[in-house]
Amino acid sequence: MAIDEKEFNRKMKEVKSKLTQSVIVPQQLSRKDRMNFRCYPGIGCFTKCCSGIRINLTPYDIYRLKKRLGVSYHDFLMEYTVPRSIDGTPLPIVVLKLKDDKEKSCPFVTPAGCTVYSDRPVTCRYYPIGMAIMKKHDKKSGQDFFIKIKEEHCLGHSESKDWSIDEWRADQESDLYDEMNEDWMEVVLKAKTLGMVEFGQKSLDLFFMVSSNLDMFRDFVFNSNFLDAYEKIEPAVVEKIKSDELELLKFSLKWLRFTMFGEGDFKVKDEARQRAKERQNAAALEKARQKEERAQKALAKKPEEVMKEADEGD
Ligand code: SF4
Ligand code: SF4
Repeated sequence: MAIDEKEFNRKMKEVKSKLTQSVIVPQQLSRKDRMNFRCYPGIGCFTKCCSGIRINLTPYDIYRLKKRLGVSYHDFLMEYTVPRSIDGTPLPIVVLKLKDDKEKSCPFVTPAGCTVYSDRPVTCRYYPIGMAIMKKHDKKSGQDFFIKIKEEHCLGHSESKDWSIDEWRADQESDLYDEMNEDWMEVVLKAKTLGMVEFGQKSLDLFFMVSSNLDMFRDFVFNSNFLDAYEKIEPAVVEKIKSDELELLKFSLKWLRFTMFGEGDFKVKDEARQRAKERQNAAALEKARQKEERAQKALAKKPEEVMKEADEGD
């Protein structure tokens, strides 16, 4: 949901005040702004930024990393991640599990550098540039700007190589990652704009599944009545998502956006909608029946039984 002008300005003030108290340089940068920066093996601070950090993993990060490591989604999640939620939202995701050493190092860092460098997560690609997106109520697309993170230990800022933000992002392949995660980012942004709204447990479970485990989503699509529930999922699309994991990932994120916020081209068939409604009604009736049963049982208890239970509870 978009925010109004007043709320937008209030948030901007809040962001600016946070920036002045942190390692973030309090200046909004555009794509054309320039910065000095260079990071290379041999620089005095090499790999200092790869410990004691929190790295949220996006769906495309997980896809790239698990492919790189040649493991299943399940094994990747168990070995390299821990569950967390995205700041300011109840949305469950996974973050990289740091090593249990003194520095709390990233599992992929070695003295020679990052062992998964060409498949490193987008957070590592953005650094030292962060992107912020804010939506105004009258704009469809977000207004994005960039911020520079300048930590004391990072010597890259003293190097003479200069880049525009766009050049830096192209060099780091950040745009590709943003493009792949676009629908997912829209869901996250919307959830952040809404604040700590109550999502149903089912929505949160679906979000977690789609965000972290494409094998599970594949199973959900092909081994349930998923494909019968929607109109116009072309056979060619079904073939593509069956045979191409990246296509399945893109499809899953589009579907996530639809299922959480009703955005996109999916259309639930009337029969499926009816079936879902019947299931919901049946579940509500069953809940009411159980509640009634518990109330009846409580009424049927003798006073001494109630006293005994109260004593045991003390
Ligand atoms: S994934 Fe690579 S670049 Fe990112 S923190 Fe770990 S070692 Fe560093
Ligand atoms: S601290 Fe900065 S310059 Fe040093 S390795 Fe990390 S990003 Fe590169």
